[in-house]
Amino acid sequence: MKLDVNQLRYLSKDEFRTLQAVEMGQKNHELVPVPLINSIAGLKHGSAVRCLRSLLRSKLLHHDNSKLEAYRLTNMGYDFLALNALVKQGAVAAVGRQIGVGKESDVFEVLSPEGVRLALKLHRLGRTSFRAVATKRDYLRNRTSFSWLYLSRLAALKEFAFMKALGEHDFPVPVAVAHNRHAVLMSLVDGIPLVQIKELGHPGRVYRGCMGLMMRLARLGLVHCDYNEFNLMVDDDEKVTLIDFPQMVSTSHLNAQEWFEHDASCLHRFFTRKLGYIPELDPKDTGPPTFQDALAAASGTLDVELAASGFQRTFQRQNAQARAAKGARKSASRKGRRAVAAAI
Ligand code: ADP
Ligand code: MG
Repeated sequence: MKLDVNQLRYLSKDEFRTLQAVEMGQKNHELVPVPLINSIAGLKHGSAVRCLRSLLRSKLLHHDNSKLEAYRLTNMGYDFLALNALVKQGAVAAVGRQIGVGKESDVFEVLSPEGVRLALKLHRLGRTSFRAVATKRDYLRNRTSFSWLYLSRLAALKEFAFMKALGEHDFPVPVAVAHNRHAVLMSLVDGIPLVQIKELGHPGRVYRGCMGLMMRLARLGLVHCDYNEFNLMVDDDEKVTLIDFPQMVSTSHLNAQEWFEHDASCLHRFFTRKLGYIPELDPKDTGPPTFQDALAAASGTLDVELAASGFQRTFQRQNAQARAAKGARKSASRKGRRAVAAAI
Protein backbone atom coordinates (compact mmCIF):
# COMPACT_ATOMS: atom_id res chain seq x y z
CA MET A 1 0.00 0.00 0.00
CA LYS A 2 1.31 3.42 -0.89
CA LEU A 3 0.79 6.26 1.53
CA ASP A 4 0.86 9.46 -0.47
CA VAL A 5 1.33 12.23 2.04
CA ASN A 6 0.73 14.82 -0.71
CA GLN A 7 -2.89 13.74 -0.80
CA LEU A 8 -3.18 15.19 2.68
CA ARG A 9 -2.60 18.66 1.29
CA TYR A 10 -5.40 18.28 -1.23
CA LEU A 11 -8.05 17.34 1.33
CA SER A 12 -10.28 20.27 2.19
CA LYS A 13 -11.29 21.20 5.73
CA ASP A 14 -14.79 19.84 5.11
CA GLU A 15 -13.40 16.56 3.79
CA PHE A 16 -11.37 16.13 6.97
CA ARG A 17 -14.42 16.95 9.04
CA THR A 18 -16.36 14.30 7.18
CA LEU A 19 -13.58 11.73 7.59
CA GLN A 20 -13.45 12.46 11.32
CA ALA A 21 -17.24 12.20 11.52
CA VAL A 22 -17.08 8.69 10.05
CA GLU A 23 -14.41 7.77 12.59
CA MET A 24 -16.58 9.04 15.43
CA GLY A 25 -19.62 7.22 14.08
CA GLN A 26 -17.61 4.00 14.05
CA LYS A 27 -17.46 4.07 17.83
CA ASN A 28 -20.95 2.60 17.74
CA HIS A 29 -21.46 1.49 14.16
CA GLU A 30 -19.67 -0.92 11.86
CA LEU A 31 -21.04 1.13 8.96
CA VAL A 32 -21.99 4.72 9.65
CA PRO A 33 -25.28 5.84 8.09
CA VAL A 34 -25.15 9.05 6.05
CA PRO A 35 -27.57 11.04 8.26
CA LEU A 36 -25.34 10.34 11.28
CA ILE A 37 -22.23 11.43 9.35
CA ASN A 38 -24.06 14.63 8.38
CA SER A 39 -25.11 15.41 11.90
CA ILE A 40 -21.65 14.77 13.39
CA ALA A 41 -19.86 16.73 10.67
CA GLY A 42 -22.40 19.56 10.90
CA LEU A 43 -22.18 20.27 7.18
CA LYS A 44 -24.96 21.18 4.78
CA HIS A 45 -26.37 18.06 3.13
CA GLY A 46 -25.07 18.85 -0.35
CA SER A 47 -21.58 19.63 0.91
CA ALA A 48 -21.39 16.42 3.01
CA VAL A 49 -22.45 14.32 0.02
CA ARG A 50 -19.75 15.94 -2.12
CA CYS A 51 -17.14 15.27 0.57
CA LEU A 52 -18.21 11.63 0.93
CA ARG A 53 -17.92 11.14 -2.82
CA SER A 54 -14.45 12.59 -3.03
CA LEU A 55 -13.25 10.63 0.03
CA LEU A 56 -14.60 7.50 -1.60
CA ARG A 57 -12.70 8.31 -4.82
CA SER A 58 -9.48 8.76 -2.80
CA LYS A 59 -10.13 5.32 -1.21
CA LEU A 60 -10.24 6.80 2.27
CA LEU A 61 -13.78 5.51 2.80
CA HIS A 62 -15.61 2.34 1.96
CA HIS A 63 -19.22 2.57 0.80
CA ASP A 64 -21.92 0.04 1.55
CA ASN A 65 -25.53 0.32 0.49
CA SER A 66 -26.63 -3.26 1.03
CA LYS A 67 -29.02 -2.31 3.83
CA LEU A 68 -28.77 1.44 4.05
CA GLU A 69 -26.55 4.18 2.65
CA ALA A 70 -23.49 3.96 4.92
CA TYR A 71 -19.73 4.34 5.04
CA ARG A 72 -16.74 3.15 7.03
CA LEU A 73 -13.06 4.13 7.10
CA THR A 74 -10.61 2.16 5.01
CA ASN A 75 -7.15 1.42 6.43
CA MET A 76 -5.91 4.34 4.37
CA GLY A 77 -8.62 6.61 5.78
CA TYR A 78 -7.53 5.78 9.32
CA ASP A 79 -3.86 6.19 8.31
CA PHE A 80 -4.63 9.67 7.00
CA LEU A 81 -6.29 10.77 10.21
CA ALA A 82 -3.28 9.60 12.24
CA LEU A 83 -0.78 11.04 9.78
CA ASN A 84 -2.59 14.37 9.65
CA ALA A 85 -2.42 14.59 13.45
CA LEU A 86 1.31 13.79 13.43
CA VAL A 87 1.95 16.38 10.70
CA LYS A 88 -0.01 19.00 12.69
CA GLN A 89 2.02 18.13 15.84
CA GLY A 90 5.15 18.90 13.82
CA ALA A 91 6.42 15.33 14.16
CA VAL A 92 6.24 14.26 10.50
CA ALA A 93 6.94 16.21 7.31
CA ALA A 94 7.05 13.52 4.62
CA VAL A 95 6.42 9.81 4.15
CA GLY A 96 8.87 7.64 2.25
CA ARG A 97 9.16 3.98 1.32
CA GLN A 98 7.66 1.06 3.16
CA ILE A 99 10.38 -0.68 5.18
CA GLY A 100 8.49 -3.46 6.85
CA VAL A 101 5.38 -5.57 6.59
CA GLY A 102 4.64 -7.47 9.75
CA LYS A 103 1.69 -9.75 10.21
CA GLU A 104 -0.03 -7.02 12.12
CA SER A 105 1.52 -3.79 10.90
CA ASP A 106 2.93 -1.74 8.04
CA VAL A 107 6.12 0.20 8.72
CA PHE A 108 7.17 3.27 6.71
CA GLU A 109 10.24 5.43 6.69
CA VAL A 110 9.27 9.06 7.33
CA LEU A 111 11.04 12.39 7.64
CA SER A 112 10.70 14.82 10.53
CA PRO A 113 10.49 18.56 9.74
CA GLU A 114 14.18 18.75 10.76
CA GLY A 115 15.02 16.13 8.14
CA VAL A 116 15.61 13.26 10.58
CA ARG A 117 14.67 9.81 9.24
CA LEU A 118 12.18 8.01 11.49
CA ALA A 119 10.06 4.85 11.39
CA LEU A 120 6.25 5.03 11.43
CA LYS A 121 4.52 1.82 12.44
CA LEU A 122 0.82 1.54 11.58
CA HIS A 123 -0.86 -1.22 13.56
CA ARG A 124 -3.34 -3.38 11.66
CA LEU A 125 -4.87 -5.67 14.22
CA GLY A 126 -7.80 -7.61 12.94
CA ARG A 127 -7.08 -6.91 9.28
CA THR A 128 -7.15 -10.62 8.51
CA SER A 129 -10.51 -10.98 10.18
CA PHE A 130 -11.89 -8.14 8.10
CA ARG A 131 -10.73 -9.87 4.96
CA ALA A 132 -12.71 -12.83 6.19
CA VAL A 133 -15.74 -10.58 6.59
CA ALA A 134 -15.72 -9.89 2.88
CA THR A 135 -16.06 -13.57 2.08
CA LYS A 136 -18.03 -14.78 5.10
CA ARG A 137 -20.86 -12.39 5.80
CA ASP A 138 -22.02 -14.16 8.95
CA TYR A 139 -18.61 -13.68 10.51
CA LEU A 140 -19.59 -10.36 12.05
CA ARG A 141 -22.68 -11.57 13.83
CA ASN A 142 -21.07 -12.05 17.23
CA ARG A 143 -18.36 -9.47 16.87
CA THR A 144 -18.04 -5.96 18.08
CA SER A 145 -18.23 -3.88 14.98
CA PHE A 146 -15.36 -1.45 15.29
CA SER A 147 -12.88 -3.84 16.83
CA TRP A 148 -10.09 -3.30 14.30
CA LEU A 149 -9.94 0.44 14.99
CA TYR A 150 -10.06 -0.15 18.71
CA LEU A 151 -7.57 -3.01 18.80
CA SER A 152 -5.07 -1.27 16.54
CA ARG A 153 -5.25 1.88 18.63
CA LEU A 154 -4.80 -0.10 21.83
CA ALA A 155 -1.78 -1.93 20.39
CA ALA A 156 -0.15 1.38 19.40
CA LEU A 157 -0.81 2.88 22.81
CA LYS A 158 0.72 -0.15 24.53
CA GLU A 159 3.72 -0.25 22.23
CA PHE A 160 4.45 3.44 22.72
CA ALA A 161 4.21 3.17 26.52
CA PHE A 162 6.45 0.08 26.65
CA MET A 163 8.99 1.60 24.26
CA LYS A 164 9.23 4.75 26.33
CA ALA A 165 9.53 2.88 29.62
CA LEU A 166 12.15 0.45 28.28
CA GLY A 167 14.15 3.32 26.78
CA GLU A 168 14.16 5.02 30.17
CA HIS A 169 15.58 1.79 31.64
CA ASP A 170 18.39 1.82 29.05
CA PHE A 171 17.13 -1.09 26.99
CA PRO A 172 18.28 -1.09 23.37
CA VAL A 173 14.90 -0.20 21.82
CA PRO A 174 13.95 2.49 19.27
CA VAL A 175 13.36 5.93 20.75
CA ALA A 176 9.61 6.53 21.15
CA VAL A 177 8.89 9.87 19.43
CA ALA A 178 5.09 10.21 19.22
CA HIS A 179 1.91 8.27 18.74
CA ASN A 180 -1.57 8.91 17.43
CA ARG A 181 -4.48 6.49 16.96
CA HIS A 182 -2.91 3.27 15.56
CA ALA A 183 0.42 4.91 14.63
CA VAL A 184 3.69 4.85 16.55
CA LEU A 185 6.52 7.13 15.49
CA MET A 186 9.99 5.99 16.56
CA SER A 187 13.65 6.31 15.68
CA LEU A 188 14.81 4.34 12.67
CA VAL A 189 16.91 1.34 13.65
CA ASP A 190 20.14 1.09 11.73
CA GLY A 191 20.25 -2.62 11.06
CA ILE A 192 18.37 -5.60 9.69
CA PRO A 193 16.22 -8.22 11.39
CA LEU A 194 18.22 -11.17 12.72
CA VAL A 195 16.18 -13.48 10.47
CA GLN A 196 17.89 -11.99 7.39
CA ILE A 197 21.39 -12.69 8.74
CA LYS A 198 23.21 -15.75 7.38
CA GLU A 199 26.39 -15.43 9.40
CA LEU A 200 27.58 -13.58 12.47
CA GLY A 201 31.16 -12.75 13.43
CA HIS A 202 30.48 -13.40 17.10
CA PRO A 203 27.35 -15.54 17.32
CA GLY A 204 28.03 -16.51 20.94
CA ARG A 205 28.25 -12.90 22.02
CA VAL A 206 25.02 -11.99 20.19
CA TYR A 207 23.22 -15.06 21.59
CA ARG A 208 24.26 -14.28 25.15
CA GLY A 209 23.35 -10.63 24.61
CA CYS A 210 19.84 -11.60 23.46
CA MET A 211 19.30 -14.03 26.33
CA GLY A 212 20.67 -11.43 28.74
CA LEU A 213 18.13 -8.90 27.48
CA MET A 214 15.33 -11.39 28.03
CA MET A 215 16.50 -11.93 31.60
CA ARG A 216 16.75 -8.18 32.23
CA LEU A 217 13.18 -7.77 31.00
CA ALA A 218 11.95 -10.55 33.26
CA ARG A 219 13.78 -9.10 36.24
CA LEU A 220 11.79 -5.90 35.64
CA GLY A 221 8.61 -7.96 35.56
CA LEU A 222 8.06 -8.35 31.80
CA VAL A 223 7.93 -11.18 29.26
CA HIS A 224 8.16 -10.12 25.60
CA CYS A 225 6.05 -13.01 24.21
CA ASP A 226 7.32 -12.61 20.64
CA TYR A 227 11.05 -12.63 21.30
CA ASN A 228 12.49 -14.10 18.13
CA GLU A 229 14.65 -13.48 15.06
CA PHE A 230 11.95 -11.27 13.48
CA ASN A 231 11.90 -8.80 16.33
CA LEU A 232 15.61 -8.42 17.01
CA MET A 233 17.47 -6.04 14.70
CA VAL A 234 21.25 -6.35 14.33
CA ASP A 235 23.57 -3.59 13.04
CA ASP A 236 27.01 -3.79 11.39
CA ASP A 237 28.72 -3.95 14.80
CA GLU A 238 26.39 -6.83 15.76
CA LYS A 239 24.64 -4.62 18.28
CA VAL A 240 21.09 -5.81 18.94
CA THR A 241 17.95 -3.64 19.11
CA LEU A 242 14.67 -5.04 20.34
CA ILE A 243 11.45 -4.05 18.53
CA ASP A 244 7.74 -4.93 18.51
CA PHE A 245 6.27 -5.09 22.01
CA PRO A 246 2.53 -4.55 22.10
CA GLN A 247 2.05 -8.14 23.32
CA MET A 248 4.34 -8.00 26.36
CA VAL A 249 2.88 -9.33 29.61
CA SER A 250 3.69 -9.21 33.28
CA THR A 251 5.76 -12.00 34.85
CA SER A 252 2.80 -12.47 37.18
CA HIS A 253 0.59 -13.42 34.25
CA LEU A 254 -0.88 -16.91 34.40
CA ASN A 255 1.05 -18.05 31.30
CA ALA A 256 4.19 -15.99 31.83
CA GLN A 257 6.54 -18.91 32.44
CA GLU A 258 5.28 -20.82 29.39
CA TRP A 259 5.76 -17.77 27.14
CA PHE A 260 9.17 -16.98 28.64
CA GLU A 261 10.35 -20.53 27.92
CA HIS A 262 8.83 -20.39 24.45
CA ASP A 263 10.74 -17.15 23.71
CA ALA A 264 14.00 -18.71 24.92
CA SER A 265 13.53 -21.89 22.90
CA CYS A 266 12.67 -19.96 19.69
CA LEU A 267 15.88 -18.03 19.91
CA HIS A 268 17.90 -21.13 20.80
CA ARG A 269 16.44 -22.95 17.79
CA PHE A 270 17.29 -20.10 15.43
CA PHE A 271 20.92 -19.94 16.58
CA THR A 272 21.45 -23.70 16.42
CA ARG A 273 19.57 -24.43 13.18
CA LYS A 274 20.09 -21.30 11.09
CA LEU A 275 23.39 -19.90 12.34
CA GLY A 276 25.04 -23.18 13.31
CA TYR A 277 25.91 -21.92 16.77
CA ILE A 278 25.39 -24.55 19.49
CA PRO A 279 25.43 -22.78 22.86
CA GLU A 280 25.93 -26.08 24.74
CA LEU A 281 29.29 -26.56 22.97
CA ASP A 282 30.52 -23.11 23.95
CA PRO A 283 32.44 -23.06 27.27
CA LYS A 284 31.29 -19.46 27.77
CA ASP A 285 27.63 -20.53 27.74
CA THR A 286 26.03 -20.82 31.15
CA GLY A 287 22.90 -22.64 30.05
CA PRO A 288 19.48 -21.30 29.12
CA PRO A 289 18.02 -18.63 31.37
CA THR A 290 15.28 -19.87 33.61
CA PHE A 291 12.14 -18.08 34.65
CA GLN A 292 12.79 -18.90 38.31
CA ASP A 293 16.26 -17.30 38.14
CA ALA A 294 14.71 -14.16 36.72
CA LEU A 295 12.05 -14.01 39.41
CA ALA A 296 14.59 -14.67 42.15
CA ALA A 297 16.62 -11.69 40.92
CA ALA A 298 13.63 -9.41 40.35
CA SER A 299 14.80 -5.81 40.33
CA GLY A 300 11.76 -3.77 39.36
CA THR A 301 8.05 -3.62 38.75
CA LEU A 302 7.76 -2.12 35.32
CA ASP A 303 4.78 -4.38 34.70
CA VAL A 304 2.93 -2.80 37.60
CA GLU A 305 3.88 0.73 36.50
CA LEU A 306 2.54 0.07 33.03
CA ALA A 307 -0.48 -1.87 34.20
CA ALA A 308 -1.37 1.18 36.25
CA SER A 309 -2.39 2.79 32.96
CA GLY A 310 -4.92 0.01 32.53
CA PHE A 311 -3.08 -1.93 29.84
CA GLN A 312 -2.72 -5.17 31.67
CA ARG A 313 -6.33 -5.38 32.75
CA THR A 314 -7.55 -5.02 29.16
CA PHE A 315 -4.98 -7.47 27.84
CA GLN A 316 -6.00 -10.07 30.39
CA ARG A 317 -9.62 -9.63 29.39
CA GLN A 318 -8.76 -10.14 25.73
CA ASN A 319 -6.75 -13.17 26.64
CA ALA A 320 -9.63 -14.56 28.63
CA GLN A 321 -11.77 -14.24 25.53
CA ALA A 322 -9.18 -15.98 23.35
CA ARG A 323 -8.98 -18.86 25.81
CA ALA A 324 -12.75 -19.05 26.05
CA ALA A 325 -13.05 -19.14 22.28
CA LYS A 326 -10.64 -22.04 22.14
CA GLY A 327 -13.22 -24.32 23.62
CA ALA A 328 -13.23 -23.78 27.32
CA ARG A 329 -16.45 -24.45 29.17
CA LYS A 330 -19.53 -22.80 27.70
CA SER A 331 -20.25 -20.59 30.68
CA ALA A 332 -16.63 -19.38 30.82
CA SER A 333 -16.84 -18.58 27.14
CA ARG A 334 -19.95 -16.42 27.60
CA LYS A 335 -18.32 -14.55 30.47
CA GLY A 336 -15.16 -13.84 28.45
CA ARG A 337 -17.13 -12.43 25.53
CA ARG A 338 -19.08 -10.16 27.82
CA ALA A 339 -15.84 -9.00 29.43
CA VAL A 340 -14.34 -8.07 26.06
CA ALA A 341 -17.52 -6.34 24.95
CA ALA A 342 -17.40 -4.35 28.18
CA ALA A 343 -13.72 -3.52 27.67
CA ILE A 344 -14.40 -2.24 24.17
P1 ADP B 1 4.83 -6.60 13.53
O1 ADP B 1 4.17 -6.36 14.84
O2 ADP B 1 3.84 -6.47 12.42
O3 ADP B 1 5.67 -7.84 13.48
P2 ADP B 1 7.35 -5.08 13.72
O4 ADP B 1 7.44 -4.01 14.78
O5 ADP B 1 8.05 -6.35 14.03
O6 ADP B 1 5.83 -5.32 13.32
O7 ADP B 1 7.91 -4.44 12.37
C1 ADP B 1 7.88 -5.11 11.14
C2 ADP B 1 9.18 -4.87 10.40
O8 ADP B 1 9.37 -3.47 10.18
C3 ADP B 1 10.41 -5.33 11.15
O9 ADP B 1 10.73 -6.66 10.90
C4 ADP B 1 11.50 -4.39 10.64
O10 ADP B 1 12.05 -4.88 9.43
C5 ADP B 1 10.73 -3.12 10.34
N1 ADP B 1 10.86 -2.15 11.45
C6 ADP B 1 10.02 -2.03 12.49
N2 ADP B 1 10.40 -1.03 13.32
C7 ADP B 1 11.52 -0.51 12.78
C8 ADP B 1 12.41 0.55 13.15
N3 ADP B 1 12.23 1.29 14.25
N4 ADP B 1 13.48 0.80 12.35
C9 ADP B 1 13.69 0.07 11.23
N5 ADP B 1 12.89 -0.93 10.81
C10 ADP B 1 11.81 -1.22 11.57
MG1 MG C 1 7.39 -8.25 14.50
